[in-house]
Amino acid sequence: MLTKGKYSHLAIPMLGDVLVGQVISVGDRISTITVSTILRYNGNGIKIMGVPRVMHSYIFRGDVDFPCTKLGEIIKIGDLVLGRVKIDWFKPVFISLDTDELGIVTAVCEKCGATIPTPKMTDKVICPRCKNSRRTKISTLYDPVAWRSLHIRNRVRIYSSIQ
Ligand SMILES: [Zn+2]
Repeated sequence: MLTKGKYSHLAIPMLGDVLVGQVISVGDRISTITVSTILRYNGNGIKIMGVPRVMHSYIFRGDVDFPCTKLGEIIKIGDLVLGRVKIDWFKPVFISLDTDELGIVTAVCEKCGATIPTPKMTDKVICPRCKNSRRTKISTLYDPVAWRSLHIRNRVRIYSSIQ
């Protein structure tokens, strides 16, 4: 049973929640995500909540469950990720990509900007337009159409130039 509670007062990430978000920066050890959606298992279904205000989350290299020297090799700006909250007492919350369902759900080509369709391999995405490829942590739920529409529907729109 899916219930939708956009702008719910409960829409604050809690331990165990799954977050949908877009990568806005990535360095060697840490990446920052803008969160659009909180998915919360509540005993009889998953509650889908849009965030009430601009909300960020961090991913650390050790929480991706994929070998890399620099986090920026496997995660790129514009990617949509699905991650589980592992630390919620610190803001922004930290998420982990450490199960099969978690990881990149929509990848964007860093060279040409194309959205990469569902990959054939489990650990590599290849751009259909320019053939650029990278190894990364691909979620078993990878689906650019579904996740992008969910992300766009729930994200906080910012009309001010100040973020
Ligand atoms: Zn490309």
